Amino acid sequence: MSLIYVSKLSKRYGNELILKDVNFKADEGEIIGLLGPNGAGKTTFIRLLNGVIHSDSGTITVSGFNPAAQGDEVRKISGIVTESAGLYHQMSGKENLEFFAGIYKVGAAKDQISRLLRLFDLEEHQAKLVGAYSTGMKKRLGLAKALLHNPKILFLDEPTNGLDPEGIRIVLSYLKKYNKETGTTILICSHVLHQLETVCTSFAFMDRGTIVEQGRLKELEEKYIKELEITLET
Ligand code: ATP
Repeated sequence: MSLIYVSKLSKRYGNELILKDVNFKADEGEIIGLLGPNGAGKTTFIRLLNGVIHSDSGTITVSGFNPAAQGDEVRKISGIVTESAGLYHQMSGKENLEFFAGIYKVGAAKDQISRLLRLFDLEEHQAKLVGAYSTGMKKRLGLAKALLHNPKILFLDEPTNGLDPEGIRIVLSYLKKYNKETGTTILICSHVLHQLETVCTSFAFMDRGTIVEQGRLKELEEKYIKELEITLET
C-alpha cells in the first residue's frame, strides 16, 4: 500500500475545474518532484492532501487516512512548508521554534530544537531576529519548523523561490540529507525541472489540472518532458 494514494481526484472553484482525474502515488522514503507550470494546480493538490480544502470527487489516502474526514490525523504525520513559511520576524530563530513546538505539543522540545538548529546550520544564528535572516536562512528555519514534530511526510511548495543558485543547492542538499537520515517522504512542488534532477527519486508532471505522467525520470517518456519544457523553466 502506498503512503499517499490518489485516484480520480477532481476539484472545482466555482465553475472552473481546477483539478481533473488526478491519479498519484508515493511510497515511503521517496523524494518526489511535482512539476508543472504556474497555475497547473500543484498548490491546490497539496492543500487537498492536507485536508485544508476538500475535493469534489475521487479518493485520497495519506498513510491510511482520508484528509477530508481525518485532517487532524494527516496534519499530525505531515509537515508543510509554504512560500511564506509563517515565521515571526520579530522573534529570534530559536524563539520561533520554541513557539511552534508549544503549539504542536512537541515532546522533548529542547532537544528537538537543538537537533534541528544543528541539522540546518542555524546554531550560530539562533538568537538573531528572523527579520534579519537571509532568504536562505529563513527557508532553512521554515524547514526546521515543519519538521519539529518528526512528520512522516514533508510537503514543500516551491522551496527554492527567491534563492540564488548556491542557496538552492544548499536547501536541496539539506533535504536530501534529511531524507537519507530519517526516511521521511518528501513531496516538492516546483516549476524548475533541472533543480530537482539530482534530488528527487521520482517525478510527477502536472499540466492544466492533471498529472500527465509519473515515474522515474529515466523511465518517463521523452514526449512529456519535451512538451512541458516549453513552459517549464530549465
Ligand atoms: P503556482 O506555482 O503559480 O502557485 P500552482 O500549480 O500551484 O501554480 P494553483 O495555485 O493550485 O497552481 O492554482 C491552480 C488554479 O486554481 C489557478 O488557475 C488558480 O487561479 C486557481 N485557484 C487557486 N486557488 C483558488 C481559489 N481559492 N479560488 C479560486 N481559484 C483558485
